[in-house]
Amino acid sequence: MIFLKTDDEIEVLRENNLIVAKALAEVAKLIAPGVSTLDLDKRAEEYIRDNGAVPSFLNYNGFPNSICASINEQVVHGIPSAKTILKDGDVISIDCGAYKNGFHSDSAYTFCVGDVKEEVRLLLQTTKESLYLGIEQAVEGKRIGDIGFAVQQHCEKNGFSVVREMVGHGVGRHLHEEPEVPNYGRRSNGLKLKSGMVIAVEPMVNLGSRDILIERDGWTCRTVDRKPSAHFEHTIAIRKGKADILSSFDYIEQVLGH
Ligand code: MG
Ligand code: MG
Repeated sequence: MIFLKTDDEIEVLRENNLIVAKALAEVAKLIAPGVSTLDLDKRAEEYIRDNGAVPSFLNYNGFPNSICASINEQVVHGIPSAKTILKDGDVISIDCGAYKNGFHSDSAYTFCVGDVKEEVRLLLQTTKESLYLGIEQAVEGKRIGDIGFAVQQHCEKNGFSVVREMVGHGVGRHLHEEPEVPNYGRRSNGLKLKSGMVIAVEPMVNLGSRDILIERDGWTCRTVDRKPSAHFEHTIAIRKGKADILSSFDYIEQVLGH
């Protein structure tokens, strides 16, 4: 079942996604060699609670923390730990959600730690570009396959591979709602997009092969070939002509000096 959101509900979703955008910016301030992923988790949780919200991920299907922190070959769903210390040359995806006034929010950004290899920087840049190319397609009257096609084309054209098993999703009163939003697909295929749908578009893109596995902790998803992976995510509302991006990278990129 797909729940279309009213304009008022979309404003609540925007407010919550703004909390996440700013929580990610707080995390961005801390990212440096020597910092643990648990330190990042604590700061995100603190920021979310200080703003009257609850971390969407905490206890979601038993997930133990407020962010997913996925380093290098980890694709998504990395569990923060005091033992996981960032080092120069790492890349780390931080995925975060906040729940307030009956609605969730969901956004992710992949950060460089210190000096990162050129090919990995290009992976991050291409993945972020593919997110916006997917969002360009996410307008009333287009189909889910148009989003995935745009993402996949851009990533594969640049020599990267797109994860298939993990997909974007509807966002609303539940963190994960219908429809599924794959990062691959065929043009003019799949569900027709309607104004008022709110979805998370979240390409997960690998430097090497697209194959992934889940670690024994039951959560951490990593590449089989242990090559790095990148992940960027926005929550957006479908509209006529142009999608309304409810989350934001502006606060993060101010911190990063972009
Ligand atoms: Mg997410
Ligand atoms: Mg998501």
